Amino acid sequence: MAMPSVIKDEQGRPFIVVRDQGKKKRQHGVEAVKSHIVAAKTVANIVKTSLGPRGLDKILISPDGDITVTNDGATILGQMEISNNVAKLLVELSKSQDDEIGDGTTGVVVLAAALLEQASELIDKGIHPIRIADGYDEACEIAIAELDKISDEIAFSTDNTDNLMKVAKTSLGSKIVSKSHEQFAKIAVDAVLSVADLERKDVDFELIKVDGKVGGSLEDSLLVKGVIVDKDFSHPQMPSEVRDAKLAILTCPFEPPKPKTKHHLDITSTQRQYCDLPWGFDDEANHLLLQNKLPAVRWVGGPEIELIAIATNGRIVPRFEDLSEEKLGTAGLVRELTFGTTREKMLVIEECANSRAVTVFVRGSNKMIIDEAKRSLHDALCVVRNLVRDNRVVYGGGAAEIACSIAVEDAAVKSPGIEQYAMRAFADALDAVPLTLAENSGLNPIETLASIKSRQVKEKNSRLGVDCMFTGNNDMREHFVIDPLIGKRQQLLLATQLCRMVLKINNVIISGDDQN
Ligand code: ADP
Repeated sequence: MAMPSVIKDEQGRPFIVVRDQGKKKRQHGVEAVKSHIVAAKTVANIVKTSLGPRGLDKILISPDGDITVTNDGATILGQMEISNNVAKLLVELSKSQDDEIGDGTTGVVVLAAALLEQASELIDKGIHPIRIADGYDEACEIAIAELDKISDEIAFSTDNTDNLMKVAKTSLGSKIVSKSHEQFAKIAVDAVLSVADLERKDVDFELIKVDGKVGGSLEDSLLVKGVIVDKDFSHPQMPSEVRDAKLAILTCPFEPPKPKTKHHLDITSTQRQYCDLPWGFDDEANHLLLQNKLPAVRWVGGPEIELIAIATNGRIVPRFEDLSEEKLGTAGLVRELTFGTTREKMLVIEECANSRAVTVFVRGSNKMIIDEAKRSLHDALCVVRNLVRDNRVVYGGGAAEIACSIAVEDAAVKSPGIEQYAMRAFADALDAVPLTLAENSGLNPIETLASIKSRQVKEKNSRLGVDCMFTGNNDMREHFVIDPLIGKRQQLLLATQLCRMVLKINNVIISGDDQN
């Protein structure tokens, strides 16, 4: 910190001078708001091109050379080095959408940036930022009411998952896994339904573990209703599948029994035993295990041992002498998995006594692909979870935004005050989503939007959106392009909140560098 010094002015009144004050940048009022808007626009322009099924992926390279390929808005923004504070708020915005809903992270940024851009024009016209913020709030309420009005319910049950499958497939359609989206959609639906409590409309995400390992192809990915251990049985002649297994979970070295250890006899007396050992054992012990028909696994990692113990209701036994029948865990099936043409093997412990937990195991030819597949899967899991929580949906492809835009526009005309301008600006900002979707698909944005908008009004059909895939049909219900109502509502609320915040900033002081 620079030392403040006291000097006196012409009249002899003392005042304090802080030396680094000159280095502080300071922006005021409208000028501050407008410079933020420019920064926000720059950031939004980067993620904009990745919106929708025809959106482009981005390659992100971190300072130490790690490469990420993605089209997920939250990921792109999260990895960008952004120094502008409002741009940072956009990053936060995308993250909040991700945390709450898990999807729509690009859309929310596109919308927020459009709202800010519209606000900037109103500021130029001389409208006070606070009046704009108020108008936006009013418009947002109208838009949300419209969303409720146009929403549809999606029917599903544990026996009929067709609709959930379709939703998951749409979510995966714009991602790297789109080639195997059928399989990934099934994994997502199965995973959510295995851990969901349909009565309480609750999904405990903690119970879904997503793991990945380089090797094989995306099609080798699978869902395991239990625990996966990255090990194989200790002897090739041991059976690769054990039904109704009892598990001894030992954390002590396993040595050939001395003649008098009766405990060993105890285990052999229980049929279909299976041992988990974090420590190794020598070949002699291994042979004995094989002879006694005791499939065993060695070098199991610490966290995995705990997971196994919890899932199978077994106890971790630190000393061999302590092993007894009631400490054994149980599992319906322990089997070895082999992957494609590789010789790799893994063990899965399924039908566990004490756990509904599931593991999704993602395979792929390199780490980048696996990481992006995991992110895409996360989105699909979120979409399915959101529907379990609330099965109301609105239609995508910009259809919901266009319907809201029309509703807000209508309301604006009836509003007598200055807020009318802000409401109309809000309506225009909503158009940014269909415009961007059209642009990213190579369509003429303005023409496409104008045509859909007039058709929505004329045909009274709020399901019409941008036909990104050139199917010749704009009715998004036909393509099952939908967004959960709670997700779309969240996008509107978050984007409006962010704008209010930016519009209210009227003083920015960035402290100077104290060092020099
Ligand atoms: P986000 O990160 O915001 O979810 P996405 O890149 O996943 O961004 O794009 C989602 C947008 O693309 C939504 O507006 C959705 O309605 C739209 N969309 C997805 N699939 C289609 C499709 N087949 N046709 C038209 N629009 C689609």
